[in-house]
Amino acid sequence: MIEITNLHKSYKTGANSLHVLKGINFSVKEGELVSIMGSSGSGKSTLLNILGMLDEADEGSYMLDNVPIKNLNEKIAAKYRNKFLGFIFQSFNLIGYKTALDNVAMPLYYQGMKRNERIDRSMAYLEKVGLADWATHLPNQLSGGQKQRVAIARALASDPKVLLADEPTGALDTKTSYEVMDLIQGINDEGKTILVVTHEDDIAHMTKRIVNLKDGLIIDDSKVNQVKAIQHV
Ligand code: ADP
Ligand code: MG
Repeated sequence: MIEITNLHKSYKTGANSLHVLKGINFSVKEGELVSIMGSSGSGKSTLLNILGMLDEADEGSYMLDNVPIKNLNEKIAAKYRNKFLGFIFQSFNLIGYKTALDNVAMPLYYQGMKRNERIDRSMAYLEKVGLADWATHLPNQLSGGQKQRVAIARALASDPKVLLADEPTGALDTKTSYEVMDLIQGINDEGKTILVVTHEDDIAHMTKRIVNLKDGLIIDDSKVNQVKAIQHV
Protein backbone atom coordinates (compact mmCIF):
# COMPACT_ATOMS: atom_id res chain seq x y z
CA MET A 1 0.00 0.00 0.00
CA ILE A 2 2.86 2.32 0.95
CA GLU A 3 6.42 2.02 -0.25
CA ILE A 4 9.08 4.63 0.44
CA THR A 5 12.71 4.44 -0.53
CA ASN A 6 15.61 6.60 0.61
CA LEU A 7 13.42 9.50 1.68
CA HIS A 8 15.20 12.72 2.63
CA LYS A 9 13.78 15.97 3.90
CA SER A 10 15.43 19.17 5.08
CA TYR A 11 13.91 22.41 6.26
CA LYS A 12 15.58 25.61 5.21
CA THR A 13 15.27 28.63 7.45
CA GLY A 14 17.31 31.52 6.18
CA ALA A 15 20.90 30.40 5.72
CA ASN A 16 20.40 27.30 7.88
CA SER A 17 19.23 23.89 6.82
CA LEU A 18 17.92 21.20 9.15
CA HIS A 19 18.23 17.65 7.81
CA VAL A 20 15.20 15.94 9.39
CA LEU A 21 14.75 12.71 7.40
CA LYS A 22 18.05 11.12 6.39
CA GLY A 23 17.14 8.20 4.18
CA ILE A 24 13.97 6.48 5.31
CA ASN A 25 13.00 3.11 3.82
CA PHE A 26 9.85 1.24 4.70
CA SER A 27 6.71 -0.24 3.35
CA VAL A 28 3.26 -0.92 4.69
CA LYS A 29 0.98 -3.66 3.42
CA GLU A 30 -2.76 -3.39 3.12
CA GLY A 31 -4.48 -4.05 6.45
CA GLU A 32 -1.53 -3.27 8.69
CA LEU A 33 -1.73 -1.24 11.90
CA VAL A 34 1.67 0.42 12.34
CA SER A 35 2.95 2.99 14.78
CA ILE A 36 5.74 5.43 14.08
CA MET A 37 7.46 6.04 17.40
CA GLY A 38 10.09 8.56 18.35
CA SER A 39 10.81 11.40 20.71
CA SER A 40 9.65 14.94 20.07
CA GLY A 41 11.50 16.46 17.11
CA SER A 42 12.56 13.10 15.65
CA GLY A 43 10.71 13.78 12.40
CA LYS A 44 7.50 11.77 12.88
CA SER A 45 5.13 14.49 11.69
CA THR A 46 7.46 15.38 8.83
CA LEU A 47 7.30 11.77 7.65
CA LEU A 48 3.55 11.51 8.12
CA ASN A 49 2.98 14.77 6.25
CA ILE A 50 4.94 13.42 3.29
CA LEU A 51 2.99 10.16 3.40
CA GLY A 52 -0.18 12.26 3.58
CA MET A 53 0.84 14.30 0.52
CA LEU A 54 0.74 17.46 2.61
CA ASP A 55 4.44 17.93 1.96
CA GLU A 56 7.04 16.57 -0.46
CA ALA A 57 10.37 14.89 0.16
CA ASP A 58 13.57 16.41 -1.26
CA GLU A 59 14.84 13.04 -2.36
CA GLY A 60 13.66 9.44 -2.60
CA SER A 61 10.56 7.79 -3.93
CA TYR A 62 7.09 7.28 -2.59
CA MET A 63 4.56 4.84 -4.03
CA LEU A 64 1.01 4.91 -2.69
CA ASP A 65 -1.17 2.02 -3.84
CA ASN A 66 1.25 1.60 -6.75
CA VAL A 67 0.97 5.24 -7.80
CA PRO A 68 4.24 7.21 -7.79
CA ILE A 69 3.70 10.36 -5.73
CA LYS A 70 5.93 12.94 -7.31
CA ASN A 71 5.53 16.31 -9.01
CA LEU A 72 1.76 16.02 -9.12
CA ASN A 73 -0.16 19.15 -9.91
CA GLU A 74 -2.34 20.39 -7.05
CA LYS A 75 -5.60 19.20 -8.65
CA ILE A 76 -4.41 15.64 -9.09
CA ALA A 77 -2.73 15.66 -5.69
CA ALA A 78 -6.01 16.74 -4.09
CA LYS A 79 -7.86 14.00 -5.94
CA TYR A 80 -5.42 11.33 -4.74
CA ARG A 81 -5.47 12.71 -1.23
CA ASN A 82 -9.27 12.43 -1.10
CA LYS A 83 -9.32 9.00 -2.60
CA PHE A 84 -6.42 7.44 -0.71
CA LEU A 85 -6.02 9.19 2.62
CA GLY A 86 -7.87 10.02 5.81
CA PHE A 87 -6.32 12.21 8.50
CA ILE A 88 -6.62 12.34 12.26
CA PHE A 89 -4.77 15.00 14.25
CA GLN A 90 -3.92 15.52 17.91
CA SER A 91 -5.91 18.76 17.92
CA PHE A 92 -8.94 17.20 16.14
CA ASN A 93 -9.13 20.07 13.60
CA LEU A 94 -12.91 20.27 13.68
CA ILE A 95 -14.73 23.34 12.43
CA GLY A 96 -16.07 25.09 15.51
CA TYR A 97 -19.25 26.57 14.05
CA LYS A 98 -20.37 23.35 12.36
CA THR A 99 -22.23 20.49 14.04
CA ALA A 100 -20.66 17.06 14.45
CA LEU A 101 -22.71 15.85 11.48
CA ASP A 102 -21.67 18.77 9.26
CA ASN A 103 -18.02 18.28 10.19
CA VAL A 104 -18.22 14.67 9.01
CA ALA A 105 -20.16 15.66 5.88
CA MET A 106 -17.88 18.50 4.82
CA PRO A 107 -15.24 16.51 2.87
CA LEU A 108 -18.06 14.65 1.13
CA TYR A 109 -19.48 17.99 0.01
CA TYR A 110 -16.14 18.89 -1.56
CA GLN A 111 -16.11 15.52 -3.29
CA GLY A 112 -19.40 16.43 -4.92
CA MET A 113 -21.65 14.00 -3.09
CA LYS A 114 -25.37 14.83 -3.13
CA ARG A 115 -26.84 16.24 0.08
CA ASN A 116 -29.06 13.29 1.03
CA GLU A 117 -26.30 10.80 0.48
CA ARG A 118 -23.89 12.99 2.44
CA ILE A 119 -26.18 13.20 5.44
CA ASP A 120 -26.99 9.47 5.41
CA ARG A 121 -23.39 8.49 5.14
CA SER A 122 -22.23 10.92 7.80
CA MET A 123 -24.93 9.69 10.20
CA ALA A 124 -23.85 6.12 9.57
CA TYR A 125 -20.24 6.97 10.45
CA LEU A 126 -21.27 8.93 13.55
CA GLU A 127 -23.18 5.82 14.60
CA LYS A 128 -20.11 3.72 13.95
CA VAL A 129 -18.07 5.81 16.40
CA GLY A 130 -20.90 5.80 18.95
CA LEU A 131 -22.03 9.39 18.51
CA ALA A 132 -25.40 9.13 16.77
CA ASP A 133 -27.03 11.07 19.62
CA TRP A 134 -24.51 13.89 19.32
CA ALA A 135 -24.96 14.69 15.64
CA THR A 136 -26.37 18.18 16.16
CA HIS A 137 -23.85 19.21 18.83
CA LEU A 138 -21.10 21.71 18.16
CA PRO A 139 -17.49 20.71 18.90
CA ASN A 140 -17.35 22.85 22.07
CA GLN A 141 -20.28 20.84 23.43
CA LEU A 142 -18.28 17.62 23.12
CA SER A 143 -15.54 16.09 25.28
CA GLY A 144 -12.04 15.61 23.87
CA GLY A 145 -12.69 11.92 23.26
CA GLN A 146 -15.95 12.70 21.49
CA LYS A 147 -14.26 15.32 19.31
CA GLN A 148 -11.65 12.78 18.26
CA ARG A 149 -14.44 10.31 17.45
CA VAL A 150 -16.06 12.92 15.19
CA ALA A 151 -12.68 13.44 13.52
CA ILE A 152 -12.33 9.67 13.04
CA ALA A 153 -15.83 9.50 11.53
CA ARG A 154 -14.89 12.35 9.20
CA ALA A 155 -11.67 10.60 8.16
CA LEU A 156 -13.50 7.33 7.51
CA ALA A 157 -16.52 8.73 5.68
CA SER A 158 -14.64 8.96 2.37
CA ASP A 159 -13.55 5.33 2.79
CA PRO A 160 -9.85 6.10 2.28
CA LYS A 161 -7.32 3.36 1.65
CA VAL A 162 -5.09 4.54 4.47
CA LEU A 163 -5.77 6.32 7.73
CA LEU A 164 -2.94 8.56 9.00
CA ALA A 165 -3.15 9.59 12.65
CA ASP A 166 -0.67 12.11 14.09
CA GLU A 167 -0.63 11.74 17.90
CA PRO A 168 -4.37 10.93 17.94
CA THR A 169 -4.32 10.51 21.73
CA GLY A 170 -1.91 13.36 22.44
CA ALA A 171 -4.59 15.68 23.83
CA LEU A 172 -6.54 13.01 25.73
CA ASP A 173 -6.35 11.55 29.25
CA THR A 174 -5.20 7.96 29.64
CA LYS A 175 -8.63 6.31 29.79
CA THR A 176 -9.95 8.30 26.82
CA SER A 177 -6.74 7.52 24.90
CA TYR A 178 -7.40 3.81 25.32
CA GLU A 179 -11.02 4.25 24.19
CA VAL A 180 -9.81 5.98 21.04
CA MET A 181 -7.20 3.25 20.48
CA ASP A 182 -9.92 0.62 20.97
CA LEU A 183 -11.87 2.32 18.18
CA ILE A 184 -8.76 2.46 15.96
CA GLN A 185 -8.06 -1.23 16.61
CA GLY A 186 -11.66 -2.08 15.67
CA ILE A 187 -11.37 -0.14 12.41
CA ASN A 188 -8.12 -1.98 11.64
CA ASP A 189 -9.80 -5.32 12.47
CA GLU A 190 -12.26 -4.50 9.68
CA GLY A 191 -9.30 -4.25 7.30
CA LYS A 192 -8.30 -0.61 7.17
CA THR A 193 -4.60 0.20 6.83
CA ILE A 194 -3.65 2.59 9.64
CA LEU A 195 -0.49 4.49 10.62
CA VAL A 196 -0.35 6.01 14.08
CA VAL A 197 2.34 8.50 15.05
CA THR A 198 2.98 8.56 18.78
CA HIS A 199 5.74 9.24 21.31
CA GLU A 200 3.98 7.06 23.89
CA ASP A 201 5.18 3.52 24.34
CA ASP A 202 1.89 2.08 25.61
CA ILE A 203 -0.02 3.55 22.66
CA ALA A 204 2.54 2.12 20.21
CA HIS A 205 2.10 -1.33 21.75
CA MET A 206 -1.58 -1.20 20.85
CA THR A 207 -0.58 -1.41 17.20
CA LYS A 208 0.88 -4.53 15.55
CA ARG A 209 4.20 -3.15 14.41
CA ILE A 210 6.44 -0.40 15.75
CA VAL A 211 8.73 1.65 13.54
CA ASN A 212 11.21 3.53 15.69
CA LEU A 213 12.52 6.82 14.40
CA LYS A 214 15.65 8.48 15.78
CA ASP A 215 17.74 11.32 14.40
CA GLY A 216 16.07 11.04 11.01
CA LEU A 217 16.57 7.30 10.59
CA ILE A 218 14.59 4.15 11.34
CA ILE A 219 16.55 2.41 14.10
CA ASP A 220 14.08 -0.42 14.62
CA ASP A 221 11.09 -1.90 12.81
CA SER A 222 9.47 -4.83 14.58
CA LYS A 223 6.21 -6.73 14.83
CA VAL A 224 4.85 -6.66 18.38
CA ASN A 225 2.19 -8.52 20.33
CA GLN A 226 -0.72 -6.15 20.10
CA VAL A 227 -2.12 -5.09 23.47
CA LYS A 228 -5.88 -4.82 23.21
CA ALA A 229 -6.97 -1.36 24.33
CA ILE A 230 -10.32 -2.67 25.59
CA GLN A 231 -8.52 -4.34 28.51
CA HIS A 232 -7.61 -0.88 29.78
CA VAL A 233 -10.86 0.97 29.07
P1 ADP B 1 8.02 15.19 15.61
O1 ADP B 1 6.67 15.12 14.98
O2 ADP B 1 8.69 13.88 15.72
O3 ADP B 1 7.99 15.88 16.94
P2 ADP B 1 8.67 17.02 13.45
O4 ADP B 1 8.64 16.22 12.22
O5 ADP B 1 7.49 17.88 13.72
O6 ADP B 1 8.99 16.06 14.70
O7 ADP B 1 9.95 17.96 13.44
C1 ADP B 1 11.25 17.49 13.20
C2 ADP B 1 12.23 18.66 13.25
O8 ADP B 1 11.97 19.53 12.16
C3 ADP B 1 12.11 19.51 14.51
O9 ADP B 1 13.40 19.93 14.88
C4 ADP B 1 11.26 20.68 14.06
O10 ADP B 1 11.56 21.83 14.80
C5 ADP B 1 11.66 20.84 12.61
N1 ADP B 1 10.57 21.34 11.74
C6 ADP B 1 9.35 20.78 11.58
N2 ADP B 1 8.61 21.46 10.70
C7 ADP B 1 9.37 22.50 10.30
C8 ADP B 1 9.18 23.59 9.36
N3 ADP B 1 8.04 23.72 8.67
N4 ADP B 1 10.20 24.45 9.18
C9 ADP B 1 11.36 24.32 9.85
N5 ADP B 1 11.62 23.33 10.74
C10 ADP B 1 10.64 22.42 10.96
MG1 MG C 1 4.81 15.66 15.62
